[in-house]
Amino acid sequence: MRVEPDDCQAVAMASDGASDRRRLDTAVATQNEQRVVVASAQRGPGCIQRADQHIEVAYAVLVLSGTGVGLHDGASRRGEQRAQPVRTLGQQKPVHTDIGVRERRRAAILPPVINVPTAVLDSLYGLAFGDAFGDRWFGILRRDGPAGLEARTLPPEPLWRWSDDTAQALVLVRELAEGGGVVDQDRLAQRFAAAYADDTHRGYGASMHDVLRRIGAGEPWQEVVAGQFGGQGSWGNGAAMRAAPLGAWHSADLDAVAEQAARQGAVSHHHPEAVTGAVAVALAAALATRSRGGHAPARPDFLQAVAERLPDSDVRSGVRVAARMPEHTSVRHAAEVLGSGYRMSGPDTVPYALWCAAGHLDDLHEGLWLTVAGRGDIDTTCAIAGGVIAARTGVAALPPAWHAACEPLPPIVTE
Ligand SMILES: [Mg+2]
Repeated sequence: MRVEPDDCQAVAMASDGASDRRRLDTAVATQNEQRVVVASAQRGPGCIQRADQHIEVAYAVLVLSGTGVGLHDGASRRGEQRAQPVRTLGQQKPVHTDIGVRERRRAAILPPVINVPTAVLDSLYGLAFGDAFGDRWFGILRRDGPAGLEARTLPPEPLWRWSDDTAQALVLVRELAEGGGVVDQDRLAQRFAAAYADDTHRGYGASMHDVLRRIGAGEPWQEVVAGQFGGQGSWGNGAAMRAAPLGAWHSADLDAVAEQAARQGAVSHHHPEAVTGAVAVALAAALATRSRGGHAPARPDFLQAVAERLPDSDVRSGVRVAARMPEHTSVRHAAEVLGSGYRMSGPDTVPYALWCAAGHLDDLHEGLWLTVAGRGDIDTTCAIAGGVIAARTGVAALPPAWHAACEPLPPIVTE
């Protein structure tokens, strides 16, 4: 890995906020477009998550690539910056970094290195932001009515806790990281069940409590999910809400996107509409990823490209309807026609969420405000839209208040 002095400076001078993240992205991505995830729950903030953790990763990359000394030297020339407090986005606590010494000590105990493509992490963070932001509005709308939504007043809670959408997306990214992008359904089922057992209070859907408990108790996942709803299986949103990062992962191969999205979806949702919803979301995220660095596709073209790769289904019909909607269509009308998740099903949710994302592929912030305005299954519509848009844009442009409020993600890789 080639590291330029400016890269060292970018790391050394990082303090907080989106602008620094951009510089860190440059530092980390100098060699290729992947970041290295070095994470351990026991060893503190070693994962990529927020600006401070990008720094951790940058250190790890530099140390692992044998350029730790260069980094140390670069930092030493700016002695006063060596132990600069780095604000932890989402926690508001300064974290002191000691470039060189601490990281070289850590290098001796670094866990295995796993490459996670940049767009995958961007998509995961976008999904988490959407989920955490959207989830707030259930309570606000119930308590205060729509005034805050119409005025675009930020949710007042200091911590925007994310829900099952993010919990399961995190599990899926871990599965992809371990499997090199290939979903092992048996292992993934166990991972979902374990994540559920670790924290059941993440707003899981009613049927998922039963499904994940039984899988965790040792019942074969195939039988459990196929037996739901009188043998039809669930056609809820669980398979789709977590699928965007997978699309980003396989963006170079849309056949692989569809295949792996379906494989992960079938682990919890037997109904073909639920699985197709997951494929649609993953395809959209893949197309968003492929558009990075170029112009955003027009909304109708983008949605049509998703629909073309879907099997005959209600989800495909919905995406096609969304693709044909006139440009001036209001969010209220789109939500009424397409459904914004009130029925808690793939066909009733995915086309609307993708319509929202497709209209704001260059603006995650605007896209999430638009999505939430359609009400319905808000955390999931926002998680889907956020995961798709951020696969193209990343999350750095979101306002600092969002970064400060959103609950941080745990490490991508744990031991
Ligand atoms: Mg949720």
